[in-house]
Amino acid sequence: MGKTEKYDHMKLIRQYAGGHKNLITLGRFLAAVSAVLTLIPYYLMWKIIRTAVNGEDAEAISTYAWGAVALIVGALLVYIVALLCTHIAAFRVQANMRSSLMRRIVTLPLGVFDEDGTGKIRRIVNDSTAATETYIAHTLADKTVAAVTPVGLMVLVLAFNWKIGLFCMIPAVIGFMCMMSMMGKGMQEKMKEYQDALETMNSEATEYVRGIPVVKTFGQTVHSFKRFKACIDGYGKWTTDYTLMLRFPMAAFMTCINSIFAFIVIASFIISKDGVSNADVLNIMYYIIVMPLVTVALTKIAYSGEAEMNLIDALKRIDKIMEIEALKEGSADKKPADQGIELKNVSYRYNGATRDAVRDVSLSIRPGEHVALVGPSGSGKTTLAELMVRFFDVTQGEILIGGVNVKEMSSVSLMKQVSFVFQDSRLIKKTILENVRMSKPGASEEEVIEALKKAQCMDIIEKLPNGIYTVIGEKGTYLSGGEQQRITIARAVLKDAPILILDEATAFADPDNEAKVQAAFEELAKGKTLIMIAHRLSTVMNADRIFVMEDGNCTESGTHAELMKQNGLYAKLFDEYTRSIEWKVGA
Ligand code: ADP
Repeated sequence: MGKTEKYDHMKLIRQYAGGHKNLITLGRFLAAVSAVLTLIPYYLMWKIIRTAVNGEDAEAISTYAWGAVALIVGALLVYIVALLCTHIAAFRVQANMRSSLMRRIVTLPLGVFDEDGTGKIRRIVNDSTAATETYIAHTLADKTVAAVTPVGLMVLVLAFNWKIGLFCMIPAVIGFMCMMSMMGKGMQEKMKEYQDALETMNSEATEYVRGIPVVKTFGQTVHSFKRFKACIDGYGKWTTDYTLMLRFPMAAFMTCINSIFAFIVIASFIISKDGVSNADVLNIMYYIIVMPLVTVALTKIAYSGEAEMNLIDALKRIDKIMEIEALKEGSADKKPADQGIELKNVSYRYNGATRDAVRDVSLSIRPGEHVALVGPSGSGKTTLAELMVRFFDVTQGEILIGGVNVKEMSSVSLMKQVSFVFQDSRLIKKTILENVRMSKPGASEEEVIEALKKAQCMDIIEKLPNGIYTVIGEKGTYLSGGEQQRITIARAVLKDAPILILDEATAFADPDNEAKVQAAFEELAKGKTLIMIAHRLSTVMNADRIFVMEDGNCTESGTHAELMKQNGLYAKLFDEYTRSIEWKVGA
């Protein structure tokens, strides 16, 4: 609760509010006016009590009462206008934040959008901007009221009998100090830990739901999801520790702010020792009415402090996306001479990794050549292929397409040269026609159907209720992994780029699907430069050349026959592969 490090969140909010920033100031000002207007009826109440206690003019009581009613209604109306201002500003801030984020996101390297990254980015675009909206729309006005009320109360409390006033303020001051101790150092960090824990639990829960079929099929128990269980346990421990840490200050805070009445009682005893005057009765009655406001104000301050920490955490998460370095657009936009690819001493290290995923790789692929990247899992095949399409920029070395460094091409030109079908190529919730047409927006329906035919998709289309007009993901229309991959191949067929990067799927549910995907790949690759990431060796034997990756390095290259002769890693992998086939047949 409360900020612990200097972070000018209001400055940032004003920047996002643009022309609407004055509405935030106006909203806060009106909230302050409303807070003052709310306090005046308490003064009128004192006057009413005084008139009653002294048996004075009953007419005056009615005037005071109506005055109080008018002020309360006025305060309410002013507060509504304040909220109107903060809401309009909040919606503007949220819209501006989302559009800034989206503008930034489209410039980011594709590699940022792996499965983990996508979930996080989605959460930030949705949830963090929503947290900011809630803070500006609701908490800012509340916070202003919470700040103005105690000051006004002080004036009210001290104005009538400063001794009772001061005495009753003792628990409020102690309560305030307890609250500040809860807001102490490390609280912002704790809030971050809390949000991180929620984030991890979210993604692990998704992973868990996705894995339920495996759990059921193999008769596993929930405990096979150790990471999910561990993050729930971790969250539980965090919550318990956090609660225990706040146990004493929170109990002290609640005790203090609720003990104000007890102090009024003690003050009354002390005053009444030397006899009680009408004025004393009046003041004590007045304090009984007014002092609960202190409790409400302090509680509001505590909650708005917590909301502020949530906001700071949300803003920092938004900052993190805005700080990711955008992919620099090639200014020269040189045109490649042909469809050959050359890698010169290419190395790449993922952010935060301790070693290179790809290390000093040099290789050259001739135009129209069909090559395969093979190697053990984690040897850097996918990373190498992704570097060619600038999912990331190389840490060292350079990648040339048709003699032009990929960094010197615009992303549009690069994408015109290359198509890729990765294993997790996604379809969006639109019709199949629109999904395929994404790669060539002006394509006619006939062209799309032709591409679908070449990608062996007609059996999928025939079984769908509305053919190519069927919306994927709607009314239970889901496609299997292999079927989805075939549709994404159709997309690549339609695009007809001269260079192709294909990531062969590791597993297929059925052989029919596998055969169709292979046939679709072959059709797609005709007359093109092809780089195939091969996870199994059955499909690489016919490649013009095979590059063998080992621990980030390209250690061997040649045709199947040449590599078998070399008797190196490839020969070993192929041998293992052949034995695994025999084992399957034997089994
Ligand atoms: P392959 O395709 O041969 O299985 P990858 O290119 O996927 O290998 O991975 C090469 C290395 O880079 C592995 O050690 C892997 O753990 C690491 N790696 C892959 N993706 C990421 C990522 N997004 N962040 C950090 N490290 C990664």
